[in-house]
Amino acid sequence: MTVSVTGATGFIGRRLVQRLHADNHYIHVLTRSRSKAELIFPVKDFPRIVIAEEPKWKDSIQGSNAVVNLAGMPINTRWSPEIKKEIKQSRIRVTSKVIDLINDSPDEIRPTVLVSATAVGYYGSSETQVFDERSPSGNDYLAEVCREWEATALKVNKDVRLALIRIGVVLGKDGGALAKMIPLFMMFAGPWAQDDNGMFSWIHLDDIVNLIYEALSNPSYKGVINGTAPNPVRLAEMCEQLGNVLGRPSWLPVPDFALKAVLGEGASVVLDGQKVLPTRAKELGFQFQYPYVKDALKTILS
Ligand code: NDP
Repeated sequence: MTVSVTGATGFIGRRLVQRLHADNHYIHVLTRSRSKAELIFPVKDFPRIVIAEEPKWKDSIQGSNAVVNLAGMPINTRWSPEIKKEIKQSRIRVTSKVIDLINDSPDEIRPTVLVSATAVGYYGSSETQVFDERSPSGNDYLAEVCREWEATALKVNKDVRLALIRIGVVLGKDGGALAKMIPLFMMFAGPWAQDDNGMFSWIHLDDIVNLIYEALSNPSYKGVINGTAPNPVRLAEMCEQLGNVLGRPSWLPVPDFALKAVLGEGASVVLDGQKVLPTRAKELGFQFQYPYVKDALKTILS
């Protein structure tokens, strides 16, 4: 199969492209920066990859069987009014572009599947509620971003199978929130572990990549699917496990302000409680390689 991927140069996209390439698929990397993409995917290692800057996205999308849409400005940063605007607009801009190109394609060369990212931020936060795909949207800024992001993707031609993956906090070695948090934990005596922190809805990088991969080829993967592990944990527990794996006791916690210093307002994703369950993925029979945070952290940090 030939797959066009936006955000392919990012934390999740890089791993997804490596996986697709290893399985002999062809990939079009849709990027804003050819030079960045060429460094990440050198042609000698990735002979089946085509790198496309705009306006070449059109040819790439029309030559693909499927599209994965992951692009968007990172949220783990300070949120000035301009940055908040770009966090939302970047997602809507890229998604609109992808949808227009898919919808404008002649029927015979239109991709048949779109797997589009969104986030569990859709649900807002709560100390008590348990969220799954049937839950309503929240009313904070991230919920608004996700609603508009999803609404844009939903404009895709009705003959195209759309899977909207609401992704939780992705745990992996070389990126995402964890990579920013670990140096903090090493600087202080251990991870913070305040009992009053809420639930942490996470997923291992390999599992989110497998879920997207499965959604590309399995026609049952349609509509909204939460991309979170089946066992969310209290943040305190995740920190305790992290402390164990790093060999750092969690008795002198990293204060919230330090976490906010590295993650900016994006720290709200980690600090505000949110218990999200992957009901659809389980119904679809998706097998999580890492259902428990302890095993996920061990593999990532060993
Ligand atoms: P990254 O931040 O690592 O990468 C996103 C990619 O988006 C970049 O490589 C870049 O590609 C493109 N991009 C960055 N800024 C902009 C911009 N201003 N305008 C247009 N494109 C831009 O993201 P992840 O891989 O971590 O996540 C992929 C998607 O999944 C994101 O949309 C994210 O919001 C969502 N998600 C991720 C979670 C996580 O924990 N990682 C959790 C929940 C949702 P290029 O430079 O090649 O154009």
